[in-house]
Amino acid sequence: MTEPRENAQLSSESFDLMKQFAGQKVANMTMDLLSEESKMRYRSFYPCGDLLIGLRYHETKPGRVGFKMGRSLKIIDGQIVAEPRKDVQFTLPLVPHHSEHVYGFWHINEAQEMTLNLKLDDERRLTVLVEGFPEKGRKDRFAWYCLNCVAPLYMTEVETSRVGLGGYYAVQEDAFAVFNSDEKVRTCKQCGTLHPVAYSIFPWKDNPQEKEARSCW
Ligand SMILES: [Zn+2]
Repeated sequence: MTEPRENAQLSSESFDLMKQFAGQKVANMTMDLLSEESKMRYRSFYPCGDLLIGLRYHETKPGRVGFKMGRSLKIIDGQIVAEPRKDVQFTLPLVPHHSEHVYGFWHINEAQEMTLNLKLDDERRLTVLVEGFPEKGRKDRFAWYCLNCVAPLYMTEVETSRVGLGGYYAVQEDAFAVFNSDEKVRTCKQCGTLHPVAYSIFPWKDNPQEKEARSCW
């Protein structure tokens, strides 16, 4: 047992600071994962303090709202590898990563990402994405590598903090327009393999070619 210190007392600075913390106005930040409101709000990326949160629902039953179950792919040591789906997965900065059937490009990000994989029931799984709110100067990149030999094919980058999420998607759409409209861009100069077209995280916007690509990679 330590003896109470005789001179122990809260400084007036700490007292004021603690009073300020306790009086801070904040909203309750809670998520009901199965509510329609959450499904809509987090279908892209939604700010929560200095984090961005996204929800991606995966379904095995065709016809229900959600993405087809797919693999989590990363490019590591010059190879495309499927990372096993575990409860918690981390993507380190600058590691190209692609979630099959969810988005049709390799995302290369300067910040770390964390994903939580929840099993909702036998037919449904949910991925909760957590990443830092884009800081000044941080770039997101949309990239494509040959799926056969991993040679670089095409890439665009966007400074998300400067242009916001609207600008992020605008740059993405421009990249898709270039990549999808030109077979030369999508054909590997090293091995000749033709890459499927790119697609976004919004399946309801798919044209038939994008829908086809979403089902296969
Ligand atoms: Zn190739």
